[in-house]
Amino acid sequence: MTTGTADGTWGPVPFFTQARTFEELWPDIRSRLTEVFEDGKFSHGRQVARFEEALARWTGARYAVGVNSGTDALVLLLRACGLEPGDEVIVPAFTFVASASSVVLAGGRPVFADIDPVTYAIDPKSAADAVTPRTRVIMPVHLFCQMADMDALLDVAHHHRLTVVEDSAEAIGMRWHGVHAGLLGAGGVLSFFPTKTLGAIGDAGAILTDDPQLAEAAAALRHHGRYGRTLGHFPGISNETTVNGVNSKMDDIQASVLLAKLTRLHEDIARRARLAAAYTERLAGTPGVLRLPTVVPRTARTDPVFYVYLVEVERRDELAGYLARHGVGTETYYPAPLHLQECFAHLGYRRGDFPHAERACERTIALPLYPDMSLDDVDTVCALVRRFTTRRPA
Ligand SMILES: *Cc1c(COP(=O)(O)O)cnc(C)c1O
Repeated sequence: MTTGTADGTWGPVPFFTQARTFEELWPDIRSRLTEVFEDGKFSHGRQVARFEEALARWTGARYAVGVNSGTDALVLLLRACGLEPGDEVIVPAFTFVASASSVVLAGGRPVFADIDPVTYAIDPKSAADAVTPRTRVIMPVHLFCQMADMDALLDVAHHHRLTVVEDSAEAIGMRWHGVHAGLLGAGGVLSFFPTKTLGAIGDAGAILTDDPQLAEAAAALRHHGRYGRTLGHFPGISNETTVNGVNSKMDDIQASVLLAKLTRLHEDIARRARLAAAYTERLAGTPGVLRLPTVVPRTARTDPVFYVYLVEVERRDELAGYLARHGVGTETYYPAPLHLQECFAHLGYRRGDFPHAERACERTIALPLYPDMSLDDVDTVCALVRRFTTRRPA
């Protein structure tokens, strides 16, 4: 384990590890993997069907459709919604690139909007300003620890008759008025990339929806467009290929790990909350730390989940370098706003179009946060941050 600060030694605190979690869950994972080997079916098999059922139960979704990644989940969900060439999808300018590249891959056109500077999620006013006669979909993205303002965004969607597709890739466990992220509009996605709150040991993702037609279309698209070979909820209709699908099946090794980790997801989320609270307590008032995560109070109950502990600081890149030299890993979510990325240059945006998104890209840094961490690790990170901000770094 890591050392604290008492004896004057530092770190290391990697940005992410699940070594201890994996060791604790290994007996459960091993017995599930043994079943996979006995079945001889390593993709789209029994563990995947079980995981889809368990995930639907955990989230309260009517349907959970397992796929290869969160990115594929977005592309297939947008396609299942019937996105047509030239249809516009409103996406925040500050998010992971897949939120917008999925729109292009599904044949649509991303239209960017600015973010709220406190939640880092799409600003409903900026989203409403981006609506044109070609707008079909609005895509709220729930980042770091809380959801976008879904009451306001559902109003915008309702007023302009838009479909709501949530990029809830990071938002497992987050709820809005008791409804799980991804289920407030047509549907949403989850990513099980290893660092996510529910992480696999490779790539995997899922689509969540209450709509049987969407679920069935997505389930067919992930498997070459074959309606007769979908899993679980959908009995075979025919074995004919009716649309051009892709191969985005989930594999049973990932499903086995995810089933085991799902059994302690509530505990993991509670642990993340304790670590985040410790960070906030220790970092409050630190000079040079410009903003700590702030969960915005809403009129009804919301459930924040700390996937990432994101702070805004002065001299962000220097701090990242200083922490790295002292054995502490950090990440920059996200280094450049989407409207200024080369792959979207043809859309014609300019620097200054979305000032909140641009500023977030310059000032934010993600500190380590995962269940394997101890409170001593949090102390180590905070002491180093304080040492950097209060004197010139050694
Ligand atoms: C992780 C993530 C994705 C993509 O998920 P993958 O499983 O890595 O493809 C999409 N959107 C957001 C907001 C994410 O955080």
